[in-house]
Amino acid sequence: MEAWIPLGYLLSAALFIFGLKKLGHPRTAPRGNQYGAMGMLVAVITTVVDMQLASGGMHWELIVAGLVVGSIIGLIMAFKVEMTGMPELVALFNGFGGAASALVALSETWKYIEDPDLPLPTGLELEVVVIAAGLSALVGWMTLTGSLLAMFKLKGGVEIFGKWFGTPTWGPSWLNPIKVLLAISVLALIVMSINDPTNTDYLWAIIGISCVLGIVLVLPIGGADMPVVVSLLNSLSGIAAAFTGFIISNPVLIVAGSLVGASGLILTFIMCKAMNRTLPDVLFKSFGGTTKETVTRTKVGSDPDEVAMMVDGAQKVIIVPGYGMAVSQCQHQVKEFGDLLKEKYDTDVKYAIHPVAGRMPGHMNVLLAEANVPYEQLIEMDEINPEFPECDVAVIIGANDTCNPAARTGEGPLAGMPIIDADQARTVVIVKRSLSVGYAGVDNDLFYMDKTMMLFGDGKAMMTGLNNAIKEN
Ligand code: NDP
Repeated sequence: MEAWIPLGYLLSAALFIFGLKKLGHPRTAPRGNQYGAMGMLVAVITTVVDMQLASGGMHWELIVAGLVVGSIIGLIMAFKVEMTGMPELVALFNGFGGAASALVALSETWKYIEDPDLPLPTGLELEVVVIAAGLSALVGWMTLTGSLLAMFKLKGGVEIFGKWFGTPTWGPSWLNPIKVLLAISVLALIVMSINDPTNTDYLWAIIGISCVLGIVLVLPIGGADMPVVVSLLNSLSGIAAAFTGFIISNPVLIVAGSLVGASGLILTFIMCKAMNRTLPDVLFKSFGGTTKETVTRTKVGSDPDEVAMMVDGAQKVIIVPGYGMAVSQCQHQVKEFGDLLKEKYDTDVKYAIHPVAGRMPGHMNVLLAEANVPYEQLIEMDEINPEFPECDVAVIIGANDTCNPAARTGEGPLAGMPIIDADQARTVVIVKRSLSVGYAGVDNDLFYMDKTMMLFGDGKAMMTGLNNAIKEN
């Protein structure tokens, strides 16, 4: 039976890798997800059997109790969470993942420190275990506090007893040397713990400083840089798991943690590129740390009938979805709008996808795929931008920062971020409830251009009205 254990781990690692590969394309992504889930099931079963064989008798009640409690909490969260709350939930899960890894590493290390006679995993010295536990604590606790703060930032403030604390973004330049100092002190403590591996004071100090480091790192980040920090925290949660896998000698945890760490890091760099930033710039320059602009200008709104008449003669329409589409859940009405144009007027309809539109990577792709928009119509920003000068109407639904021309200037939270060039279309229609700012808090000149028609209202109500007007036209 023991010979099957490595095979089980190998199978689950292979399933993770195949799953990741399939996640690379929207069409194969659902299958990739299934492979990943199957890999996790195989990993859990193999680990339980492995533990059974190693101890010759297990505490099943603890495992079953953990499974039941975890499943109930997971189910409640999955049912309760609004679609718009998904990014916060993902941030929370990243944090929990990091903390869980750090806690397992702590408890294992504690066992060996408490009982020096306990045999260590093959090939490991206590010093090595202590180093891995220190690194796991650094990454894991930093991920927990950083992710909790990121979650509050995504929510737009802390709402525990009513809204008593707005979006926490604060980053004076003197915070940078403090970040470096905190990181260096944790590394120094890890080195010091090698000489005195049974002294647990080092571990507590590492945990405390790492928690502060997570907060200090994420506190200044806001505006257009949030997507980068969310994917970085995701990557860190994987790295913490890999360190813990090393301590408990679990190959599949090392493989899975490394895969999450590596793929999260790749995504972080993709996000950096999309934002036209480098990672050190995001972590140390705090572009997003400015306050929200107050909107003082006005603009008269249009109505669905007027917009329906205007799209009547359009040969090419580009739809630009944003966070507001996710809030109003109008992706089905958006798809119907595209279909109606195609059927009634044979219009060329495409969707322009900005890499950070919405509040999580791939947010727009997920919503539009749910509404069965063909993948071929979803065009990445770099590819679609040259088409705008030839576009008759750009229809922006709940997007703001991702098409704000202010990003082309060298100042403010959006400075340098590449945007969807919707302002270069012949006519622009914007569906949103008001003239208010987007996530980065920057007023948008696009709203006030002569060629722009504002359709003020909730995305779903406005798109339904527009579709009805087109049908009656
Ligand atoms: P924005 O956040 O810039 O703007 C969304 C707009 O949607 C708002 O201005 C709001 O205007 C409108 N809106 C809200 N509710 C509705 C509704 N019910 N119906 C219609 N409109 C509505 O969105 P973008 O997608 O353009 O930009 C995303 C921003 O989020 C970027 O700054 C990005 O950096 C940031 N971000 C992205 C993450 C990611 O991974 N994708 C993660 C974290 C942050 P109004 O109130 O007037 O209706």
